[in-house]
Amino acid sequence: MKVTILGCGPSAGVPLIGCDCSVCTSENPKNRRTRSSILIESDTTRVLVDASPDLRQQALREQFKTIDALIITHAHADHCHGVDEIRSFNYHGDRAIPIYADALTMQALQHRFDYLFLPPQKPWYRGALTPHVITDHEVFTIGDISFLPFEQQHGKTRSTGLRINDFVYSTDVNNFPNDSHYALEKMRFWLVDCLRYEPAPAHAHVALSLEWIQRYQPERAWLTHMNHDLEYTRLLAETPQCVEPVYDGMVLEIK
Ligand SMILES: [Zn+2]
Ligand SMILES: [Zn+2]
Ligand SMILES: [Zn+2]
Repeated sequence: MKVTILGCGPSAGVPLIGCDCSVCTSENPKNRRTRSSILIESDTTRVLVDASPDLRQQALREQFKTIDALIITHAHADHCHGVDEIRSFNYHGDRAIPIYADALTMQALQHRFDYLFLPPQKPWYRGALTPHVITDHEVFTIGDISFLPFEQQHGKTRSTGLRINDFVYSTDVNNFPNDSHYALEKMRFWLVDCLRYEPAPAHAHVALSLEWIQRYQPERAWLTHMNHDLEYTRLLAETPQCVEPVYDGMVLEIK
């Protein structure tokens, strides 16, 4: 299985509009971060996790033209406001795209993007999604990839964590409820939220992400959803050898 980092930025991206700090003006492309999203691929199946406002640029950059399904972790704008781009995937796949989300998130999506849930209309002038509501702790399968969804605390709301075999994706999280801990046990690879150095109300910060990694002991861990406090080279040097910040376009080989 292969995981491509489509984006690893915070809600406003890096660079921030109007910011002239050293990270926002950095020449290193690894410091340019579009909004957070990943692409999970097996030999036969391609699943997009989150539809960031940068989805169009991400798909052009990574050169994929359709997907088998879309999973949305939560309804914050940076994770779903690119969903209208689904139209291109409808067109190239010539079908409605299944969308998976928890009940609360699906409700928000159906409210905000009602037109995407109307009956499909070829030739795809309008995007079309078919809703699949997922439930924490109930495994669902797309093609040959199985997902275990679990609850993550995200400030005053929640997000869905995803475990796929030995790999876990935990974006937008500041705490794990007790009955989600099992989903993190004995994982080998972890892509986890890490917003900045200072503690944040709805996200993990560097010290907290490293504390969790120490606790769950994955073989490799990667940090994502990073804002302009975090300079790639500096953070890479500051983290233990099994931990590294990701960058847009990075490919994680999960074996
Ligand atoms: Zn976010
Ligand atoms: Zn900045
Ligand atoms: Zn969020």
